[in-house]
Amino acid sequence: MIINLCLISNKRLKISINYLLFITLLSLSFLTVAVTMNKEERKVILIGIDGMDYQTLQRLATPNFDRLYTSELFTGGELNTETEQQTYSGPSWATILTGVWANQHQIIKNDKNLKSATPSLFDRINQVYPQAKLISVIRWDTIYDNLYSDISFAQHKIVIKEHDFKAVEKFIELLKNKPDFAFLHLDDVDHAGHDFGFSKEYDQSIIDADLMLGKIIDVIENNKQVNEKYLIIVTTDHGRNNSGKEHGGQSNSEKITFYATNNDFYHRKKTLQITGAIPQTYIANSILDYLHVTPLK
Ligand SMILES: [Zn+2]
Repeated sequence: MIINLCLISNKRLKISINYLLFITLLSLSFLTVAVTMNKEERKVILIGIDGMDYQTLQRLATPNFDRLYTSELFTGGELNTETEQQTYSGPSWATILTGVWANQHQIIKNDKNLKSATPSLFDRINQVYPQAKLISVIRWDTIYDNLYSDISFAQHKIVIKEHDFKAVEKFIELLKNKPDFAFLHLDDVDHAGHDFGFSKEYDQSIIDADLMLGKIIDVIENNKQVNEKYLIIVTTDHGRNNSGKEHGGQSNSEKITFYATNNDFYHRKKTLQITGAIPQTYIANSILDYLHVTPLK
């Protein structure tokens, strides 16, 4: 009798060990595959190049931008409505990262002390995929101040003060860990604009940014597994005034920006489904749509 009992409990023990193993393997597979849809592991790379004028970009030879589909969009909200906002970096990056205008996110000007009133991509992605790896490398730390607690969802939240080349180097190093959402902010183009206006120095800063973009796309393409599907979006926060030295106002050249993507769907969506100019809010909402996270209203 005693022997029998032992046999049963051994068997039960064996079953429960197998069950535990099964559960562990299951949870491990969720840990490694955070954002999976139909066996595709979806990943998003968002690259922001501060102050890059769309007209100049179109005029110059930029072979790496040519690898992407590029469309015009507008920043600064809709003129003469409650959504109108300054074409400065603070309000614009907040719009890019939250998918709403400043009347909702409340980053109404460049100010470190303002805290976004709307959850950003970091928070939204984390809510649905708590295991997702989120990383961010930026040149201007006000972006983190404005995002406030949301940036704590990123495993790596780096600020590189020196120059864009160093930021790109760090970003490429972090891409090796296969993040699910990666944000890179570059600033040398905006600095060239403020220092020199539209000039050969400004043109060169865009050519340099194009080379850096090429390096990043190469790293992604050379290292991706068959099941990994990348949505790459490249954008800027605002245009520039006539001289190229300033921005902040509502002129066409300050309001018109661009987004470039490797994904035909999010490009064609513009021509097939959206009539009129595309708002800057489209970027975050495309990313949420791609990752099957319910977009904000
Ligand atoms: Zn600027």
